[in-house]
Amino acid sequence: MKPPAHRNTSHKLNFLLSSVKGGRRLQDEDIRFLLGLEDRKLIGRVFEAARGLRREHFGDSIFLYGFVYFSTFCSNDCTFCQYRKSNIALPRFRKSPGEILAAAVRLAEEGVHLIDLTMGEDIQLYKPESEETGFLVEITRAVKAATGLPLMISPGVVSAELLSQLGHAGADWYACYQETHTPSLFARLRPGQSFKERWQVKLSAREQGLLIEEGILSGAGENLEDVITSLAMMRVLEPDQLRVMTFVPQKGTPMASVPAPDTLRELLIIAVLRLVFPDRLIPASLDVEGLAGLQSRIDAGANVITSLIVPGSGLTGVANLSRDIENSLRMPASVKSMLTRCGLKPGDLQTYLHWVRDHRQVKACRVGS
Ligand code: SF4
Repeated sequence: MKPPAHRNTSHKLNFLLSSVKGGRRLQDEDIRFLLGLEDRKLIGRVFEAARGLRREHFGDSIFLYGFVYFSTFCSNDCTFCQYRKSNIALPRFRKSPGEILAAAVRLAEEGVHLIDLTMGEDIQLYKPESEETGFLVEITRAVKAATGLPLMISPGVVSAELLSQLGHAGADWYACYQETHTPSLFARLRPGQSFKERWQVKLSAREQGLLIEEGILSGAGENLEDVITSLAMMRVLEPDQLRVMTFVPQKGTPMASVPAPDTLRELLIIAVLRLVFPDRLIPASLDVEGLAGLQSRIDAGANVITSLIVPGSGLTGVANLSRDIENSLRMPASVKSMLTRCGLKPGDLQTYLHWVRDHRQVKACRVGS
């Protein structure tokens, strides 16, 4: 008599998870199997394995990233994003240097490990023709001087020269999300943008010794094979941080009526990312479901909390403009209590600084060799 199918699935999962623990590299067919799991108990075992690998590489430390989205102007028209240029109903802002510095310093005082200086593709803030450096470079330099923290910049597709200036001004990280690595889906999500250029700029940033964050969207029209393709492309890029975020339908966009996807898919991808890239940073974003959705992402194996935002600053999120901001739930003090309940704690700043330094040194050696 043949054993029931669920028992075979369970045995296969046990074998796969223990072989990953033993250092085996997951193949595409393994990833297909893991991402295809539907039974909540079996998915729970994947989360448990992901937490085990996180513990092995990072102990009980979770890193905290402050988010300063200082310009919501954008020259692109991504179909999933409320900041697309065609969304004329959306109020926009460009924060002044004083406002940006105040938010960054407050986040540093509250104990974040990194400041994420992000923006739409607001070309007015790049290097103007007539000046030595532009707003973006100057604000990067100023925030570095004021906080002394590692900085992540997310200016979109920019020139290699501007990346170099940003690196010299104090940027440590360059985040630029492909969102999908399937060119036909990319064309639907990011119309008018070049898949190749967006990929190439990350290679260019890596060559300049910057740490890279790559990201994908979950529930924005991709199928299982598209996710497998993304993981394969991420293996080629070797990002230092890998994020997945569930698509949130936005008013004023062509995807406004797409049903909100099940966030369980995001959680499973977080766990699989941890199995494939056990020693990398993997975010749990507060931007999708606010504080209420944080623990599930941490339980799935994430080890960075992103999108911490200062209340009263007029700053917003990306997928959720205001969720949990003004009630201070997106500040370090609030997430710390959640971490304590899970037997975790915010990482030591020195540990994070060493992680950044070591990974940048590895990159510099690769470039030099
Ligand atoms: S995802 Fe980024 S590039 Fe695209 S419209 Fe939104 S802010 Fe602009």
